[in-house]
Amino acid sequence: KESPAMKFQRQHMDPDGPSNNSNYCNQMMRRRNMTEGWCKPVNTFVHEPLVDVQAICLQGNITCKNGKPNCHKSNSSMNITDCHKTSGSKYPNCDYQTSQKERHVIVACEGNPYVPVHFDASV
Ligand code: 5GP
Repeated sequence: KESPAMKFQRQHMDPDGPSNNSNYCNQMMRRRNMTEGWCKPVNTFVHEPLVDVQAICLQGNITCKNGKPNCHKSNSSMNITDCHKTSGSKYPNCDYQTSQKERHVIVACEGNPYVPVHFDASV
């Protein structure tokens, strides 16, 4: 079974991206199995080395949106792509708007080793 850490990598890690095209989210949301059964409405991909994203778990500790205490904000801004389902698109035709950004990334970390398991926000 897929661990929470592996699920985070599937949903949020694309170190070699972004491919510089407006279809990035349409392709990646499907390729990473986030359009199975429903269209996941919002998802962020991070274009930085995995070790740099894992290191966020050692950086500034903050409260997550859900009130849990295990979120961490990256010291540096990172290259990300925000994928937002377009308002008109309906499953199974999931259509996304692709936006490239440089933002600080907030992730929740869990376990031993203490690694990212949830993407909370970019700021
Ligand atoms: P909206 O733009 O739809 O009003 O809000 C989207 C929210 O989802 C933002 O607060 C944003 O920080 C957050 N968000 C962005 N990417 C992800 C993600 O991959 N997973 C989750 N759970 N939230 C995300």
